[in-house]
Amino acid sequence: AAKGLGQRIVVEFNPALHTRSQRWLELASRMPKALEQGEFRLVYQPRMNLADGRTAGFEALLRWQSADGNIGPAEFIPVAEDTGFIVELGRWALRQAIDQMARWDSQSMSVSQVAVNLSVRQLADASLPDFLRDCLAVHRLSANRIELEITETAAMENLDWALPRLVQFDEIGVALALDDFGTGYSSLAYLQALPCSTLKIDIAFVRRLGTPSGDALVRAILAMARSLDKVTVAEGVETSLQHDWLREHGCDQGQGYLFARPLEAGEVGAFLIDQPAPLPTPT
Ligand code: C2E
Ligand code: MG
Ligand code: MG
Ligand code: MG
Repeated sequence: AAKGLGQRIVVEFNPALHTRSQRWLELASRMPKALEQGEFRLVYQPRMNLADGRTAGFEALLRWQSADGNIGPAEFIPVAEDTGFIVELGRWALRQAIDQMARWDSQSMSVSQVAVNLSVRQLADASLPDFLRDCLAVHRLSANRIELEITETAAMENLDWALPRLVQFDEIGVALALDDFGTGYSSLAYLQALPCSTLKIDIAFVRRLGTPSGDALVRAILAMARSLDKVTVAEGVETSLQHDWLREHGCDQGQGYLFARPLEAGEVGAFLIDQPAPLPTPT
């Protein structure tokens, strides 16, 4: 289905779409109550520094545990985006991540940064910067402890109004990352103009490592990121082959099942304790 702000939505009748729309309607109508009843939660996937194997931070990912089973974000996020409920759900996630960081701080656990995903619909929300500032202020949490992830496609396709919002976030002091990088059509000029410090290389590229064209693509992305002075994070690192290649080619960080699946908030402490001691600095 067509989506996006101000775009015309054309729906033709076809049986498959009809079934999907039943499910869509079901999810759309259940979501507000599900949030109220505590069926949503965040899990946290570590992001590792490839140079020394230490934890650089975590990405917060939404989970929906409904009475009749788990519903994945790939299914419910698009529905929430279409209905506009993502504005409320996304605020809840942002506040939840910030509250959790404060809790970790109070337990003397060193979680240096948490990244939270933002939908394009949330960028249209003019009061989000104030909301964010308030959430941080409650705990006197410094803004750079939070990173906001926006997909490259969302940022680039809506640049005229997304850019001013990203600049606002940058002024608050939160870090910004371009998610699923490489799948969109960023021009170098725009990339340089964006106030984002991090590029998250899409899993599709990481999967293609080990083939000549896959290696060449990731090499090119890394070279470009370096020239623009952006931190690089590889998404979906699953094998030690990918890990070794990325580290040797200067990718800064990795995230993926090789290191850890997304963890419950209560599992993060044990994960941090188990991590390797810092490597001796090479001389
Ligand atoms: P994303 O932001 O690109 O998140 C990365 C996704 O890759 C996550 O899927 C993560 O569980 C998955 N992943 C991590 N490591 C591996 C790996 O080694 N192999 C494979 N195959 N996958 C890996 P998840 O949690 O299902 O989330 C899917 C998408 O849903 C996210 O993609 C993001 O776009 C969206 N999403 C999740 N939580 C939120 C949220 O709070 N707000 C918004 N707006 N979107 C969210
Ligand atoms: Mg993300
Ligand atoms: Mg991603
Ligand atoms: Mg993705």
